[in-house]
Amino acid sequence: MTLKRDASGRLHIESPLMGESLMRKSLLAETDAGSVFKPLPDLAVVKIGGQSIMDRGRETLLPVLDELAAARAERDLLVLTGGGTRSRHAYAIALDLGMPTGVLAKLGASISEQNALMAALLLAPHGGVQIGHDDLVKLPTYLMLGAIPVMHAMPPYGMWERPPQVGRIPPHRTDAGALLTAEVLGACRCILVKDERGLFTDDPKRNPEAEFIPEIQAEALLSRDLPDLAVEHAMVEILARARSVYEVLIVNGRERGALTRALRGENPGTRIYR
Ligand code: ADP
Ligand code: MG
Repeated sequence: MTLKRDASGRLHIESPLMGESLMRKSLLAETDAGSVFKPLPDLAVVKIGGQSIMDRGRETLLPVLDELAAARAERDLLVLTGGGTRSRHAYAIALDLGMPTGVLAKLGASISEQNALMAALLLAPHGGVQIGHDDLVKLPTYLMLGAIPVMHAMPPYGMWERPPQVGRIPPHRTDAGALLTAEVLGACRCILVKDERGLFTDDPKRNPEAEFIPEIQAEALLSRDLPDLAVEHAMVEILARARSVYEVLIVNGRERGALTRALRGENPGTRIYR
């Protein structure tokens, strides 16, 4: 790329984006040429559900952590944590006080971080180490040491979280954060550990007629417009337009061995793919 002076005397760096608004449709399409670099293609990103796993306490959480500790011998892991019931409590208070979405997102981040602290300490005997978002670029070092890095999964939009179409709950929470983390790292797996077998046509806790969906394409899931979902709507939208990650697995953390099977490439729950 060379330097060039235009007729008005301004200096430019000659590049395909020079002088562009970055909004012209044909130019935007051109920027998708070539493959996206995958910094950590052997990494598995595993999100431990806040409400569905952490909040159930030791009886549910410890077996999940045991499976992670055992799997660490076979592959590189990045463990992420959700916020759960305490986030919902904070959201309810904040909504009552008239807080905007961005404030709710900040609250959600600090609560999922509390869960990352506890999960990292419980994994400490197996190399658990809590990391922050800025430490992602140091992951290769942690992984080389055999550590199990643990980070909270709320994406760092914080105060700048975009208001949702309906209501005021932050649309990008920890499922979306887990997928975005896997996407930027080029991870080979993105697994969400929850408390049901996978995705159903409705919440199986409320609707006994709900049917199990073993696998579904992201776009098809969006167009089915189900009455309730086990994953954030925004996560499915992000998967539909991801460039590196092909699929997200939802597995039941209360079913022994399901997470281990998912880490080995099987689908013991629901596979959402693009
Ligand atoms: P996490 O703790 O991982 O954030 P959530 O509690 O937010 O998980 O979401 C998982 C819950 O979503 C399940 O426990 C289930 O009761 C509920 N749910 C709602 N709709 C569905 C659905 N269509 N399929 C499966 N589970 C659903
Ligand atoms: Mg959730």
